[in-house]
Amino acid sequence: MNDDRETIYKAFGISGKVLAFAGPILEELEERFDKIDETAEYNQLRVIRAMQEAHVGEAHLKGTTGYGYDDIGRDGLEQVYASYFHTEDALVRPQITCGTHALALALMSNLRPGDVLMSAAGKPYDTLEEVIGIRPSRGSLAEYQIGYTQVDLAGDDFDYPAIEKALEDPRIRLVTIQRSKGYQTRRTLSVAQIGSAIAFIKERRPDVICMVDNCYGEFTERIEPSDLGADMIVGSLIKNPGGGLAPIGGYIAGTRECVANAAVRLTSPGLGKEVGASLDVLPSFYQGFFMGPVVVAAALKGAIFAANCYERLGFDVLPNGSEARHDIIQAITFHDPRGVIAFCQGIQSASPVDSYVDAQPAPMPGYDADVIMAAGAFVSGSSIELSADGPIKEPYSVYFQGGMTWPHAKLGILKTLQNMLDRGLVAL
Ligand SMILES: *Cc1c(COP(=O)(O)O)cnc(C)c1O
Repeated sequence: MNDDRETIYKAFGISGKVLAFAGPILEELEERFDKIDETAEYNQLRVIRAMQEAHVGEAHLKGTTGYGYDDIGRDGLEQVYASYFHTEDALVRPQITCGTHALALALMSNLRPGDVLMSAAGKPYDTLEEVIGIRPSRGSLAEYQIGYTQVDLAGDDFDYPAIEKALEDPRIRLVTIQRSKGYQTRRTLSVAQIGSAIAFIKERRPDVICMVDNCYGEFTERIEPSDLGADMIVGSLIKNPGGGLAPIGGYIAGTRECVANAAVRLTSPGLGKEVGASLDVLPSFYQGFFMGPVVVAAALKGAIFAANCYERLGFDVLPNGSEARHDIIQAITFHDPRGVIAFCQGIQSASPVDSYVDAQPAPMPGYDADVIMAAGAFVSGSSIELSADGPIKEPYSVYFQGGMTWPHAKLGILKTLQNMLDRGLVAL
C-alpha cells in the first residue's frame, strides 16, 4: 500500500510490518472477493424485486401504535420476506425479541403434547437446550410433554441411515436443522446439503415439518433453505437479515400453516397476525433487509481475510482459508489465552463505539469459564456488527463475526494482528 491510506492506518497504530504481511494476502483474495460481490449483487437485486413486487411505498415506513390494526408497513414487510424467501407467508416482528425467541416460538406453536421434536444436525445451539428441556427449565417443551431426540452429524454431513431409523417413530412431528455451526467445531451446512436432507426426510415422512435455524446464514448463498423444501426458516434481525440497522426482532418464514400457528402463539388465538403495532421500527427493518446482502458480503470478506491471515501464521482456523462459506462465523484457535485476549482487544479497539473500552475476560452466566467479548456496536449485542468472543479455556478459540463494512472488518483484523505482534505472540 503506497498511498495516504498507509498514513491513516499508522494513526491507528498499524505498523508497516502488519500492512506488508496483509498486502499479498489481500491481493490473493481479490478474485474470491469478486465472487462474493457477485452473490451480493444477485441477492441485492432479489431484495429490490421483492420490495417492488410488494409495492412498498412511503406509507409503509410509517408505524402504528396501540393494537396495530391495519399496519400496512408491517404486513408489507412480511410480504417482502415471504417473497424473498419464496415462502407462503412470514412473521417479522419487533415483538420477537431475539433468535432464541423466534426458534422457541416456531417450535412451541407447531408442536403439541405427545409430539416429538428431532434435531437432525446434532446438538442444537446452547440457548435451545432450555427451550427443549435438554437442560430442565421452566416452560420448556418437555414440561408440555413434547419429547426430543437427536441424530448427530456423521462427520461433515447428515447421518442418513440414523435419520431413517429415527423417523420410524411416528410421534416425530418436526425436524429441526441448524444451518450454522454456531459455536461448535463442526462445519456449517450448505443449503444444498440441507436440501438433500429435507428431501430424504420428506420422502419417508411427508407429514413431518422441516424447520431450519437459519441464524447467520441469510444472504451468504444465492438460495435459502426455503428454496429446497424447508417448511419454516427462522432467524434473528440483529444478525444478517437486519443488515445491522434493525434494533430488535426475529422472523419466521414458511408455509401458511406454520406461520399461522406461530402468529397465534405470539399474539393470541383469534388475533394472530392482525395485531402487533410496529411503533418506529419499520424504516430500519426495511432498510436493514435492503442493506443485508452487501452487509453480509462485508462480513464474509472479513471472515475470509481473518482465516487467511491466521492460517498463514500457523493457527487452526475453521472454516479454513479456502473453503466455501455458508455462514459468517470464523473460529480461530490459539491454544493460548493471550491470543484470545489480544484478538478480542484488537477488535474492540477498532470499533466506532466504545473503542476505548478495555475488553477483559469475566465470568458470564451460563458459561463454566471466564469469557472475553469484544463489540463496539450501534445495536447492543448485534453480531452482524464486528464482534468477537472467546471462553478462556482450552483450546482457547475465538469466534469472530460481522463487520457491516469491509474497511471496518479489515481494520479490526489488522488491529488484532498488531496486538499479536506487539505482545510477541507471532513473528511477521
Ligand atoms: C444466534 C443464534 C441463535 C440464537 O439467537 P439469539 O438472538 O442469540 O437468541 C440460535 N441459533 C444459532 C445458530 C445462532 O447463531
